[in-house]
Amino acid sequence: MNIALIAHDQKKPQIINLACAYKEILKKHTLYATGTTGLRLIEGTGLEINRFNSGPLGGDQQIGAMISENKMDLVIFLRDPLTAQPHEPDVTALIRLCDVYQVPLATNLGTAEVLLLGLKEGFLSFREIISDPC
Ligand code: PGA
Repeated sequence: MNIALIAHDQKKPQIINLACAYKEILKKHTLYATGTTGLRLIEGTGLEINRFNSGPLGGDQQIGAMISENKMDLVIFLRDPLTAQPHEPDVTALIRLCDVYQVPLATNLGTAEVLLLGLKEGFLSFREIISDPC
């Protein structure tokens, strides 16, 4: 699966801890990240990460483009709900595209863990549910 990892500045320590804790699962997949998050993850975990631009410089939109091409399977985006972001429209657009394309999206650590555990257990069969519910 292709997995995107993004964290606002205040949440970067959390995403590094998450990636360390779930490294064995994450390393089986192709990982993408916005620029600074990706750099921190590489330094902090040794995982192989494909880096886009920094979020405020278009990285969120680059990940959004992958979603719109059906090339992203899961997004973990640890948002900081307490700090105004200069690129808030890009953040909103990315979240919207996840909803348009039914891409599982975690915006906090609790949901991120549930998604990664679901990935480990092979529970992410939502695409089949949509196409063939009975
Ligand atoms: P960054 O971008 O990983 O380059 O910090 C994340 C964001 O703020 O969208």
